[in-house]
Amino acid sequence: MDVEWVFKAAAPGPDDMTLINAMAMRELGADEVYTFALRLCDNEIDRDFERFDDQALDELAGLFLGAPGIFDHCWSARGQTARLYHTEVVTEQGQLTSDGRPYRWLKGWAYMMRTEDNADLIAEIDGGIKREVSVGCAVERVTCSICGQDLHDCFHEKGEMYNGQICHGVLCGAKDAYEWSFVAVPAQRQAGVVKNKRYGGPDPHEPGEEPPPSDDGKALQRAKALLELEKIRYGGNQNGTNQ
Ligand SMILES: [Zn+2]
Repeated sequence: MDVEWVFKAAAPGPDDMTLINAMAMRELGADEVYTFALRLCDNEIDRDFERFDDQALDELAGLFLGAPGIFDHCWSARGQTARLYHTEVVTEQGQLTSDGRPYRWLKGWAYMMRTEDNADLIAEIDGGIKREVSVGCAVERVTCSICGQDLHDCFHEKGEMYNGQICHGVLCGAKDAYEWSFVAVPAQRQAGVVKNKRYGGPDPHEPGEEPPPSDDGKALQRAKALLELEKIRYGGNQNGTNQ
């Protein structure tokens, strides 16, 4: 996987400090805060065969402003959080999603206090230790990429192929963005996929939980489709201009 999720940011400039101080409890100096940028989410089809639609991404940009970030689980207990002070949807010129749409992603700029408690984490980010970001958010509906109906109402199934297209859920109408979290990347991706999208629907599924396959044939087809998707997404044709 070549997608970078966390970027070291330069020292905060006057514009950053204006935005940060608009949400801080007191006037902070540039030497008191540490800033970094991250990829919150994008419009690529993910491992659960779901993706945000472009409008939802734009809506999330507004909803995530001010949202707190947590770092693994032990960090949050100690009150080590960061906040997003700026968000922006980035369109990568010339880069397409696995199904051929222009690749867009939501970039967030976060700040945290330069305290002793945060020193290790800051050193990790500075050192480029790989981390992944997951987001907790709610959307109004999930529609079918094949027929456009609510995914619960049609007969298409996520992960299956229809006329050469992988059926996936399109997440529409962002309602809320609760938090984002910053997690260590598992050494073996297949061993622990970290995911924390919450849709607020009737049957939210837990992070990392896969719906049980209904029979062996379906499971095999799903596995093949997933492999195909991973190949398209992370395969050799990545001309990514990650920043
Ligand atoms: Zn459908």
